[in-house]
Amino acid sequence: MTSDVVVVGSVNVDLLLTVDRHPTPGETLLGGSGAQSAGGKGANQALAAARRGASTGLVGAVGDDAGAAVALARLTAAGVDLGGVATVPGPTGLAVVTLARDGENTIVVVPGANAAVSPAVVEAAAGTITAARVCVLQAEIPLASATAAARIAAAAGVRVVLNVAPAAALPLATLRLADPLVVNEHEAALVLGWAREAEGLSAGEPPSSPSSSSPSPTEGGEVTPEAGLDLARGLRELGIPGVVVTLGGAGAVGISSDGEWTVPGLRVAVVDTTGAGDAFVGALAASLARGAGLHEAARDATRVAAHAVQRLGAQDSYPEKDEPLP
Ligand code: ADP
Repeated sequence: MTSDVVVVGSVNVDLLLTVDRHPTPGETLLGGSGAQSAGGKGANQALAAARRGASTGLVGAVGDDAGAAVALARLTAAGVDLGGVATVPGPTGLAVVTLARDGENTIVVVPGANAAVSPAVVEAAAGTITAARVCVLQAEIPLASATAAARIAAAAGVRVVLNVAPAAALPLATLRLADPLVVNEHEAALVLGWAREAEGLSAGEPPSSPSSSSPSPTEGGEVTPEAGLDLARGLRELGIPGVVVTLGGAGAVGISSDGEWTVPGLRVAVVDTTGAGDAFVGALAASLARGAGLHEAARDATRVAAHAVQRLGAQDSYPEKDEPLP
């Protein structure tokens, strides 16, 4: 069966705790609320793509515990094909998200069943991957498995959207299969540094433009579009065909065959940025599968992500198909 989007990635239960402020090491704090919900970058991105109208499949693994049903309920309701999700002994992946009053979060992820998404599991799902238009990958499953999926997809002419989150030192050969690579500004700086080191270039060597390759924050703590573009240029110079750098409230920038572009952030009342990057990636993949160019897809993804930051949670915050966007 063909699909618009296949996501090979993580499935988690998120435990969301609200606090007035983040605890310092060694400190015990009383929280405001605690709630379980579905999460994991792979699952989040699959839901976001499906909610944008893309026929979507997910390849991954859950445990044989009660968390599996929590993790998969929304995906089932949204019509995501879960035929590629294995059930393995042990716990489903778990992410503990602590959200402070200022909207900033910290996240600890326990891989659980996601660690069982081996290259062999990915190989077994090759038929699902090659039947899609777009294959979406992140770094919450073993990196060898993400690489295997990228190779299978690229060899079959399936477009690879590679979201290197959390930041990981993937081989340059894998990064070069991405069109686009999607990273936030922190991940961009790290991935660029590691890739340059692997190439034997000095990590701090600036790209062809004269400005520094380390992001320079604005007064609001966000990276400027120009600094983001600098990182994107550095990544593109390593031979990555398309690059998108997300900049939080400042939006996103990118480089693709149609040149360099900037999508300004949308001014909205921010409640919780958890899962905003995943909303962006899933929506981006859905647009690309529809045939949109990268710039147009990023504009749509920015609107979807801006919707998501106005609500608490990750999947809970994603817009339904017919919901108006900012
Ligand atoms: P991540 O969540 O992976 O760290 P970002 O923080 O860059 O990624 O956010 C991803 C996208 O979510 C941004 O490109 C933007 O479109 C949207 N976004 C994030 N924070 C905000 C915000 N404060 N206001 C509006 N949009 C936001």
